[in-house]
Formats: sequence, C-alpha cells, structure tokens
Amino acid sequence: MTDFIAILYVIAFALFIYGLMGLTGPRTAVRGNWIAAVGMGIAVIATLLTPGMGNWLLIVLGVAIGVLVGVPSARKVKMTAMPQMVALFNGVGGGAVALIAWVEFNSTDGYAHEPVYIAIASLFAAIIGSISFWGSNVAFGKLQELISGRPISLGKLQQPVNALLLLVAVVCAVLIITGDDSELLIIGLLVAAGILGLTVVLPIGGADMPVVISLLNAFTGLSAAAMGLALDNTALIVAGMIVGASGSILTNLMAKAMNRSIPAIVAGGFGGGPAVAAGGAKEARPVRSTSAADTAIQMAYASKVVVVPGYGMAVAQAQHTVREMAKLLEKKGIEVAYAIHPVAGRMPGHMNVLLAEADVPYEQLKEMDEINSEFAQTDVALVIGANDVTNPAAQTDPSSPIYGMPILKVNESRSVIVLKRGMSSGFAGIDNDLFYDPKTSMLFGDAKSSVGEIVEELKAL
Ligand code: NDP
Repeated sequence: MTDFIAILYVIAFALFIYGLMGLTGPRTAVRGNWIAAVGMGIAVIATLLTPGMGNWLLIVLGVAIGVLVGVPSARKVKMTAMPQMVALFNGVGGGAVALIAWVEFNSTDGYAHEPVYIAIASLFAAIIGSISFWGSNVAFGKLQELISGRPISLGKLQQPVNALLLLVAVVCAVLIITGDDSELLIIGLLVAAGILGLTVVLPIGGADMPVVISLLNAFTGLSAAAMGLALDNTALIVAGMIVGASGSILTNLMAKAMNRSIPAIVAGGFGGGPAVAAGGAKEARPVRSTSAADTAIQMAYASKVVVVPGYGMAVAQAQHTVREMAKLLEKKGIEVAYAIHPVAGRMPGHMNVLLAEADVPYEQLKEMDEINSEFAQTDVALVIGANDVTNPAAQTDPSSPIYGMPILKVNESRSVIVLKRGMSSGFAGIDNDLFYDPKTSMLFGDAKSSVGEIVEELKAL
C-alpha cells in the first residue's frame, strides 16, 4: 500500500507541475488548471488511503462543508473581486496549517518523544500559518471594503509592537522545544502570531493589497511545506514548496512591474489617498471632451487602432462590446491590436482573461514591450478604463509615486481617446498628464455604454 500511495503522489506532483506550465499562457490556462486540479484530487485520494487515516465521519463532513461553501462562491465571484477571493482561500490554507500544528502539539504531548527538527518545523509552520490566516483576512476585508482601505497604523509604535509580538511567538516556540508542554504556550504562540498578521497588514494601503496577497500566498506555501516536513507528508512538502516558490516569483514580478520594492510595500502608505496632480499641487487644467459619434468617425478613418484596456474595462464588463467594436473596425480594413500592461487591472493577467472571455484572438494581444514600439505608427489609441498604466509621469516626474514604473507609451500615438466616467484618479491616487495632452480627447461615461454607442455609430457609418 505504501508503494501505491507513493506512486499516486508522484503522479500528482507531475500533474501539478505540468498544470502550472499551462498557467503561463492564456491559451493553455484553463487546461492547466484542470490538470493541476486532477493532480490535487489524486493527492487527496492518496492521503485518504494512508493507513490509520482517522475519523471518516469528520473527514466527509469537512469535505462536504468545503464543497458547499467553496464551489458556489468560486462560481459566483466577479473577476474584479478575484483578488479578495484568493486572499480568503489562501488564508484558510494558513489557518488549517496552524490548527494542524496545535493538534500535533496535543497528540505528541508537546513533541515530547519527537526529534527536535519536527518540533521546529511544526512550530515554524504554526507561526507563519497563523500570520497568513489573519493577514489574509485583513486583506480580504480591505478589498471587500468591509474595513477601510487606508493604512491603519500605530504610528511610531508599529515596528516595536510587531517586533514584540514576533518575540513572544518565538519565545513560546523555544520554551516548547526545550521541553515545556503547557498548552498555554502553543495558544500564546498562535495568538501572538495571529495579532502580528493583523498588525503587519492593517498599516498597508488597500492599493497594495494584491501584492500583499501574493506575499501571504507564498507564506502559506512555506508553512504547508514546513508542516509536511513535520508530518512526513511528501504531498504537503511538494505542494507547499510549489505554492511558496510561485507565490514569491509572482510577488517579485508584480512589485517589479509597479517599480515598488517589497519592503516599501510592507512598510505601507501607498495609494488610497486623494488624487493629486503629478507635479504636486492640484490645478484645474482644460481637457478636451469628445462624443461617441466623433470617436467612431476618427477610428473609421484610421489605418491602425490600439485598444488599451485597464481596470475600468473590467469594472464596466465592457470586453464583449469592445470585441464587437473591433470586429466592425476590422471589417472596414482597420488593423486592431490590444496593448496589455503587466499590471493593468487588479491582478496579473486580468486583461488577458477578460479579453480571452470575449474571444479576442491571442495574436492581437500585445505585451507592453512589443506594443510600445508600435504606438508611433498608431492613428488612434483607445484607452478604455486605463489610467496609471498610461501615465507619462512614471517616466518624466521623479517626484511621482509611480516614477520608474514602465508604462504603455500611449502618448506617442497620433491621437488618444480616453474612455472613463470622470476625472478620478486610478489606483495610485494621482493625476494623469495624458488626459491634458493636446492630442487627447476624453469620452466620458461608463466604458460599456460608451463603447456600445461607438458600435452603433460605426454600424451607421
Ligand atoms: P487604474 O486603477 O489606474 O484606473 C482605472 C480607471 O478606470 C479609473 O481612473 C476610473 O476612472 C476608470 N473606471 C472605473 N470604472 C469605470 C467604468 N465603469 N467605466 C469607465 N471607466 C471606469 O487602472 P489601470 O488598469 O490603468 O492600472 C492598474 C493599477 O493597479 C496600477 O496602478 C497598478 O500598479 C495597480 N495594481 C495592479 C495589480 C495587478 O496585478 N494588475 C496589482 C496591484 C496593483 P473614473 O472613476 O473616472 O471612471
């Protein structure tokens, strides 16, 4: 039986890794997800086959509750709410690891007869898992607007309080490892680490939450891997390391694409503030507004149109109407491409997923580096609900909070039309010089309605 379980685990790991490969491109992502899910199913079956599994009634009850809660919520969640859903699911993973550590502590009489490395791995998993659970819940609360997205901090006391909480958790762990088996110690460790999870994430602005979620995801993976070591469960070690490694890589990529360092993000205080002009003081500058009819005419006479989607397109769910518009333009012999910024929207790949949903051909989706050299030959750049990812201040104004972030060089196009509801700032809370550029026109309104009107005008031309 042990060999059979080992074989099942190896098959499961191969499927995880193969599935993960599929997730690197929109064309193969759905299949990759299925492959990894089948791998996880096999890993669960292998674990359940382990001799002395335990209370089957409780296991079946747990699985049933998980399915009843998880499946409908994952099916119903809107794409724009995906980051908070990931936060919640990730937090549950960390919480489960922390609870397993507690159970292990009790069932081994405080690790009395276990090698030291098992106690260390288990307590490390308990600390990280608890931080991840409570931190993820705060991240969820901020993104779901259940709590304020603004930084909530203890000011100068923040760092000493965090250090003290970490110290309490570590001291509890050391006392347990050196032979004290009082249950109060493991409870103290979990509580201190849990409060640390809250105090680390509360001071971070809602704006940085997607990166924080990815970081906490890496934490959960690490805690699961450590717990796998303690339980001698290969599946947990491998799956935990895959989550830990991919979470760390994703965190790095997101931080790099936003030109923010991870310590700066954890230090908090970015985004969520009022809109400020790129250069500092907010001044009233004239903007040129346009109509759907004029936009349609301008595009109908273009030879190349580049659509620049952003978070507003996701909010408006305008992707299908955008696709309809592109088809009409293509029928008129106009070349259409989509410029995809790596952090457009609120999660990596957000725009790719939306546009794939609307059956936009993958060849038309152009990554930032590729499309940036094409803007100079573009007649109309149609910016749909994108803001920060087009802000020239990121290149020209060293005082801007997004200075250094690579942007889509939309302002190099012959003309720019921006679709948004008003003059509100985007995620970074700053004004965008592009909107005041003499070659820019603003088409105000909800992106889906505006594109719908353009479609009607194009049909009439
Ligand atoms: P932004 O958040 O900069 O701007 C979105 C714009 O959409 C707003 O200015 C808003 O203006 C407009 N908008 C909102 N709703 C609608 C609607 N219904 N119709 C039309 N317009 C609408 O989005 P970008 O995609 O340009 O930039 C993404 C930002 O998110 C970047 O700052 C990035 O760093 C950050 N980020 C991205 C992550 C990722 O992984 N993708 C992760 C973490 C952060 P108005 O209200 O006037 O309509």
